[in-house]
Amino acid sequence: MPELPEVEVTKNGIAGYLIDQKITKVYFDDKSLRKPFLPNLYNLEGAEVRKVERRAKYIIIMTTKGYLLLHLGMTGHLTVLDKGVQRALHDHFEIELSNKKIIRLNDIRRFGLVLYYPLEQSPYESEYLKDLGPEPFSDEFNAEYLYSKLSRHSKSIKQTITDNYVVVGIGNIYASEVLFKTKINPTTPANKISLRQCQNLVSNIRDILSESINKGGTTIRDFSGADGRLGYFVQNLNVYGHKNDPCPVCGHKIVSIIQGQRSTFYCPNCQK
Ligand SMILES: [Zn+2]
Repeated sequence: MPELPEVEVTKNGIAGYLIDQKITKVYFDDKSLRKPFLPNLYNLEGAEVRKVERRAKYIIIMTTKGYLLLHLGMTGHLTVLDKGVQRALHDHFEIELSNKKIIRLNDIRRFGLVLYYPLEQSPYESEYLKDLGPEPFSDEFNAEYLYSKLSRHSKSIKQTITDNYVVVGIGNIYASEVLFKTKINPTTPANKISLRQCQNLVSNIRDILSESINKGGTTIRDFSGADGRLGYFVQNLNVYGHKNDPCPVCGHKIVSIIQGQRSTFYCPNCQK
């Protein structure tokens, strides 16, 4: 599943092809993603793209005729192709641009989202974005903020930092990695985390996400070209997916537990 770093890299990868271009054609098929495609998407034809932004795992394409809100769901990929490249299976949506490029969405499991918003109705005010917690790289996300949020939750720290209303972008994989780096046991109740630990959490969250974004930057070339499928980059993961492997720090066996129906990986020796 694309996580925040992949979405950031995707946004950066497509932005250069989109900005100042005119959308000459909109295409979608008759399959439904998380929501069905609506004919109001055609309102984007003739629009010029002004800006491409990311909020949480949403991409927002701002044009002179309204907004395109995209979410990649579980399996969505956006690729930049030359006009005329044939569609493949699971290519469900595309926009054609005045520079003869196509931005195409392939989504095998169809949990993605493609919605049009008119100019007077910002997607930032929509049900999807309006109540989200701060971005991990924003000033608003700092140790004091996190401490005050965590103090109100008795659920585990793992479940609390993956909550999009606390902070966006800490997916299941990154939560295990961040807690390992911060030496916090994932089952610790959120309200038992100290301000000092919050400082370390904030800085480790930023380090791990930016490392991942920087690595992804090298795959941007995959966005263009005829076979431009982007394979989401595999991270150097210390604990996630490493059940029974030796901990890279102390050699103890990594264990796996289930929290809120999702797997968590940690080292019981480093994360007491
Ligand atoms: Zn260890």
